[in-house]
Amino acid sequence: MEKTLSIVKPDGVQKHLIGEVIKRFEENGLKVVGLKMIYMDKKEAEGFYAVHRGKPFFESLTTFMSSGPAVVMVLEGKEAISKTRELMGATDPKQAKEGTLRRQYATNIERNIVHGSDAHETAAFEIKYFFNSLEMFEY
Ligand code: UDP
Ligand code: MG
Repeated sequence: MEKTLSIVKPDGVQKHLIGEVIKRFEENGLKVVGLKMIYMDKKEAEGFYAVHRGKPFFESLTTFMSSGPAVVMVLEGKEAISKTRELMGATDPKQAKEGTLRRQYATNIERNIVHGSDAHETAAFEIKYFFNSLEMFEY
């Protein structure tokens, strides 16, 4: 079984979409094995998105991600990484397929309500960034 990290971003929390996002994942065979609400400060957001440091959107993105509470979760399932990304849809909601979370709920390419890890190595880094082994459960 594969694990991935997902975040209901601050805009998703403001739009009252925590339940909707989790429901979509659970309905599609993903199991929530870790879950918490956090409020990242700027430095934590910069550390989380370190791979994007230097990109034109980095400053705005990390300000946005530290602008309010977010919900972080560890999802487990068969091909959890690609399945989560499929349910999220493309980064830019205008490019996202019909029926995906971002197509339905995102405001724009930055405020796109949800995050999902994009590969095994990034999933491992991102899960460890927010969760220790005592905060994840088997059931
Ligand atoms: N982002 C942005 N402008 C861009 C590309 C990305 O504001 O041109 C933001 C957006 O919130 C995105 C995040 O930066 O979700 C991380 O970008 P990435 O390319 O990793 O997209 P994702 O993996 O989230 O689809
Ligand atoms: Mg990404």
